[in-house]
Amino acid sequence: EVDPLNTVGLEVVAAPGARVLPLASGIPDSLFEHDGQITKREVRAITLSALAPRQGELLWDVGAGSGSVGIEWMLRHPANRAIAVEPRPDRAARIARNAAALGTPDLRIVQGAAPAALAGLPAPDAVFVGGGGTDPAVIDAAWSALSAGGRLVVNAVTLETQADLIARQARWGGELVSIQLARADAVGGFRGWRPAMPVAQWSVEK
Ligand code: SAH
Repeated sequence: EVDPLNTVGLEVVAAPGARVLPLASGIPDSLFEHDGQITKREVRAITLSALAPRQGELLWDVGAGSGSVGIEWMLRHPANRAIAVEPRPDRAARIARNAAALGTPDLRIVQGAAPAALAGLPAPDAVFVGGGGTDPAVIDAAWSALSAGGRLVVNAVTLETQADLIARQARWGGELVSIQLARADAVGGFRGWRPAMPVAQWSVEK
C-alpha cells in the first residue's frame, strides 16, 4: 500500500537524549552552544541559500562567532570544507566544541582578526562575512581572495556597514536584501510582534 502522507506514522527512532539533525539548512539555534552572538536560524537559512554550497567547496566563515554558518556549510556534504575565522579565544574554543558535537570536526579554525588573519589561507569558493565587515578592508580582502564564479555574502546590522553594502551593490551589482523578522512575544497578558534588528544582506558572484 502506498502511504505518501505517512498516516501509519513511521517513526524515526533515536536513542534517548540523541539529537537528530534536520536535513534543511537553518537548524535550531539550540543545537549550537553560543553566547547570543549567533546568526539566528531563519537568517542563517537565508544566508546558506545565498552562499549556495556545492559539493566539495571551501567556505571562509569570517567572524564565525559560534561557527554555525561554517558548520552548516559542511553538513551539506561530507566533501565540503570550511575555515572559521574568529578573533576571540573563547569563541574560537566554542566553535571547536560545536564542530565536534555536530559532526564536522574537520572545520578549520583560525583564531585572529580579518583581514590580517585571511592572508595565506587556501582560496575559497565562497566567503561569508558575518563579523568584521565594519572594516571595509575585510570585504575587499574577501572579494580579492575569490576566484571567478565565487560567491561573497555579507550580513550587516550597523548603519555604517549597511551604507557600505548599499554603495558596493550600486557599483558592482549583486543582490541586496533586508531581512526583517518579528517573533510573537508577550505584551502584558496578550501577544505582539517583537521585531529583531533588520539585517542587510549583500550577495554577489565574482
Ligand atoms: N555568524 C556567527 C555570528 C557572528 S557575530 C554565528 O552564527 O555564530 C560576529 C563575530 O565577528 C563575533 O564573534 C566577533 O568576535 C567577530 N569579529 C569581529 N571583528 C572581526 C574581524 N575583524 N575578523 C573576524 N571576526 C571578527
